[in-house]
Amino acid sequence: MSTVSGIAVLGSANMDLVAHVAKAPQRGETVTGRELRTVPGGKGANQAVAAARAGASVTMIGAVGNDAFGLRLRSALEASGVVTDRLRTAEGPSGTAHVVVDDEGGNSIVVVPGANAGLTSLTPRDEEAIRGAGLLLLQLEIPVEAVVAGARVARAHGVRTVLTPAPVRPLPPELLELVDLLLPNEHEAAALAGVTDPREAALALLDLVPEVVVTLGGAGSLWAARGADPVPVPAPRVRAVDTTGAGDTFAGALAVALTEGRPMPDALRWAAAAASLSVQRPGASAAMPYRSEIEARYA
Ligand code: ADP
Repeated sequence: MSTVSGIAVLGSANMDLVAHVAKAPQRGETVTGRELRTVPGGKGANQAVAAARAGASVTMIGAVGNDAFGLRLRSALEASGVVTDRLRTAEGPSGTAHVVVDDEGGNSIVVVPGANAGLTSLTPRDEEAIRGAGLLLLQLEIPVEAVVAGARVARAHGVRTVLTPAPVRPLPPELLELVDLLLPNEHEAAALAGVTDPREAALALLDLVPEVVVTLGGAGSLWAARGADPVPVPAPRVRAVDTTGAGDTFAGALAVALTEGRPMPDALRWAAAAASLSVQRPGASAAMPYRSEIEARYA
């Protein structure tokens, strides 16, 4: 289990601007916030950090703006060991997520894609990074043309593709046929399949892709592959303080376990161990565990 082959992540990097308020403003209203936090995020970058901390060599393919946020997003990735030489710096602003969190823990979010929106095609060096990886992690926070282009390179070179379908949207057939493993949470699975029961949703999604893992929050995950009954995999019982980024931690850690050759049920338990650690700490990428912590929890 010691060979760690590389993972490529093709996706978004955003600066999350999180304002804490007693009560969120209504239309036309201005409220005074208590505090603003700027936190590196974006599903692509978060999955890259999760996988790198879990012990893999990870290359992030994406785009940041030529602004102060772009510099910080790049250095945050590097601080967790992510290779950023395929992270381009585009003219204009970095992607931002404007988050308002109220005292009841509710939130509302506006995402402005910024540089992520300009990522519509891949360079030869991006393609080289995908070809050289053992697995490609994809999400839907960059233009779908680029997601399809990345998946196409991966498929042509036998690189396993894992798609987190978030933010959820109808998936074009040309993308679905390139996906090896679809990794929705239960809301995304229900939206894509048109049924709320996760087991039924997973079985319906198997008509579109060969393998599905539906994550179920504190209840763990459900693994479905063609020709077999879906298998539930529990999550460790923990006291969760902040579940932001749990799905991205799970995806990054799962990618690492799979590229190390762990069979799916073991890989899912390993990913659940990682995600259970992240939910016990505040923050998204800041809460993501390192390999030694995951191993200690998994044992
Ligand atoms: P997302 O963050 O994408 O909404 P989920 O909420 O399904 O995804 O969480 C992803 C994974 O994180 C779960 O499969 C589980 O392993 C872990 N997880 C989430 N919430 C908890 C929790 N309360 N306790 C333990 N593990 C959790």
